[in-house]
Amino acid sequence: ESTGRVIAHHGPALIVEDSAGRLYRCTVRQNLGRLACGDQVIWQTSGAAEGVIVAVVERRSLLTRLDYNGQPRPVAANLDRVAVVLAPQPEPSEALIDRYLVAIAAIGVQGLLVLNKVDLLDASARAIWAERLETYHGIGYPLLWVSSHTAHGLDALRTGLRGCVSLLVGQSGVGKSSLIKALLPDREIRIQALSAVTGHGAHTTTTSTLYHLPGGGDLIDTPGVRSFELGAMGRDDLERGFMDIARYLGRCRFSDCGHHHEPDCALRDAMARGDIAPRRLASYLELRAALGAAAKPG
Ligand code: GDP
Ligand code: ZN
Repeated sequence: ESTGRVIAHHGPALIVEDSAGRLYRCTVRQNLGRLACGDQVIWQTSGAAEGVIVAVVERRSLLTRLDYNGQPRPVAANLDRVAVVLAPQPEPSEALIDRYLVAIAAIGVQGLLVLNKVDLLDASARAIWAERLETYHGIGYPLLWVSSHTAHGLDALRTGLRGCVSLLVGQSGVGKSSLIKALLPDREIRIQALSAVTGHGAHTTTTSTLYHLPGGGDLIDTPGVRSFELGAMGRDDLERGFMDIARYLGRCRFSDCGHHHEPDCALRDAMARGDIAPRRLASYLELRAALGAAAKPG
């Protein structure tokens, strides 16, 4: 029996990497359920570069996606960080940024914000973005300014991802593929090595793949989940994603305060003092309303 890590999916088989970096094509014992890229596993050899996964080590986090039956499907396991990639074009709404941060908090991993394409910003646009993103920095999210085209900020991003298993998410067109290419100079070599193990062409690797960052740490690329949506979540998840607001919950005069027009609303008062950003309160109330019956007034 050996230990290893799932680094790619290939139809019913998985590619497992051992601690020496060797790759094996493995099947999975039926009772184990669905495994994901990033899973730590115990496996047995069944051939030269083949094996059978017999156990999965308990996961420290799991990102799932709903399949066409509405069932959660694991896509990335043991993530430490999810970087939300933003760009001046396409311009994100604050509500979208907040939804990403709630989804990240819901799986219990650290979120960071990466503003890409900063080469497109002149001094006045830079000032506007600094002001927009200051709210998030103030709440405690690391914020990085990068450009995959000029390589500006990439060293800081590498440092931010070092020693962690990370994932990049964000709207289509913000530059995730460009950043992945810039961060992983050996990506093509890795894809070739994977196709050698699976015996299929290099460009069939369209599912999740775990890559090693040259400076340490790993990046999971999941083309299907790059634009990450809110899965099923409860009020606890919402509160975890809005720590800046959650600390005032339960302090309103009315226990069923809706935080709209009620007197002595702790949230409105905090906003009036400048302790909660108006945009954050608006998107909190919007997301809470979207939770519907699951979200009781707090
Ligand atoms: P994805 O959909 O998030 O994977 O985005 P892509 O990596 O495909 O990039 C979308 C577009 O943005 C492409 O035309 C890229 O050339 C462009 N792009 C990516 N990074 C940068 C950057 O740092 N600066 C500029 N100006 N354009 C970029
Ligand atoms: Zn209130």
